[in-house]
Amino acid sequence: MRFETLAVHAGHRPDPATGAVTPPIHLSTTFERAPDGTFPSGYVYGRDANPNRRSLEESLAALEGGAAAAAFASGMAATSAVFQALEPGDHVIVPDDSYYITRKLLQEVFARWRLEHTAVDLTDLAAVERAVRPATRLIWVETPSNPLIRITDIAAIVALARRAGARVACDNTWATPMLTRPLELGADLVMHSTTKYLGGHSDVLSGALVTLTDDELFHRIRTVQIAGGAVAAPFDCWLLLRGIRSLPYRMQAHCQHAAAVAQFLALHPAVARVHYPGLASHRGHPIAVRQMKAFGGMLSFEVRGERAEALAVAARLELVTRATSLGGPETLIEHRASVEGAHTRAPESLLRMSVGLEHPDDVIADLAQALEGA
Ligand SMILES: *Cc1c(COP(=O)(O)O)cnc(C)c1O
Repeated sequence: MRFETLAVHAGHRPDPATGAVTPPIHLSTTFERAPDGTFPSGYVYGRDANPNRRSLEESLAALEGGAAAAAFASGMAATSAVFQALEPGDHVIVPDDSYYITRKLLQEVFARWRLEHTAVDLTDLAAVERAVRPATRLIWVETPSNPLIRITDIAAIVALARRAGARVACDNTWATPMLTRPLELGADLVMHSTTKYLGGHSDVLSGALVTLTDDELFHRIRTVQIAGGAVAAPFDCWLLLRGIRSLPYRMQAHCQHAAAVAQFLALHPAVARVHYPGLASHRGHPIAVRQMKAFGGMLSFEVRGERAEALAVAARLELVTRATSLGGPETLIEHRASVEGAHTRAPESLLRMSVGLEHPDDVIADLAQALEGA
């Protein structure tokens, strides 16, 4: 079945007890045992499994083309589960522009458990090759990246990882399975902050992992999920399944609108640079053309001037909301250097946008008036 059909149907079936077409939310933390001591429903206790979580995991596995999925309480809980499934002495390669909390987690939590890591520019394959050690078990990919929207060649990283005997996990939050298919390109695991496009409405915090094969690493991840206990709540799973049904059509609009905004910004005299993989001038454009079905809803731009000029442009916006995060219906803008703090790599003149579902002309008009004073 095609992606749009999977988005509507995978994990959904009418409730056998009532015929309800939309699934009920199962809040029960415990399930009844039969007189003979068995569990006829297959469910025992809410941390082990829950019907809403199982439906969501079925949907996510189908969307990414994986064997199984595990749903977590946040994207970072999902990321942590991958690192927890590794061992002391193992080495991980991460992008030097990964989601900044991914690096913080490795530096401040997992380093104390002797999980080692090297942060490198994943668009520089020679640098990745040099970072490989005998103990390298995992290469973590994130594409498009934050905040410069760099594009990593997943297939090239997979080839390099195979030679090194390492696995590849891909944070596919920004591209979604609609635009980029990491498992088809040879990655072993996909991670999602489902908080973003999959949920799609800025109202649920959650994360997930999808595995290509139900192998030993995934069994360890499943143990971390269930025994560690950072599972996704039933209502969150229900909201996600609801959001996923419209993902293909929301993504189409996000991509079209971001392309229009990027083109407007690229021609504006108050804008020094635009980072959007759909622009032919973008360094990652040729890889994006091969690897992505469309170029996504995320972009960033550098205002002429410094921090003060960038903050002033954001302050003048009336329709666009000044907030972090992405993937919701409303267009968001943020000064990324302020979000990341002291050790940021984001240029001070840079603003990052999650282009939403409003009519793009209204977003462009708001940007036009905000840039006028710049
Ligand atoms: C938001 C985000 C995360 C973290 O996910 P949470 O749901 O906030 O824990 C990880 N990676 C990327 C690319 C993100 O955008």
